[in-house]
Amino acid sequence: MAYNPQVTDAKVVSYNPKNGLFEIVANLKDRTVCRLTYESDETGGAKATHISRLLQEPCPICRKDFLCNCMDKFKENIAGQALEHTGVPTA
Ligand SMILES: [Zn+2]
Repeated sequence: MAYNPQVTDAKVVSYNPKNGLFEIVANLKDRTVCRLTYESDETGGAKATHISRLLQEPCPICRKDFLCNCMDKFKENIAGQALEHTGVPTA
């Protein structure tokens, strides 16, 4: 079955108004926690440039409890859901 990440909570953990970069930590329904890095622009848009899984829980896809790259495939999906929770931060 295809992995279907569901973001249940997300919060902005860092924001740099000088360059528009910010980070969100997103909690998923399956207890996976991801840290996402975004770039924002003057139009109020933002796109995710990087996702990494925090290591509290094994990977929901490959079950490894160390670093893997599975979440990369779901970056856009998870990043979009996380942004719906937090909105794009503003200075
Ligand atoms: Zn994995």
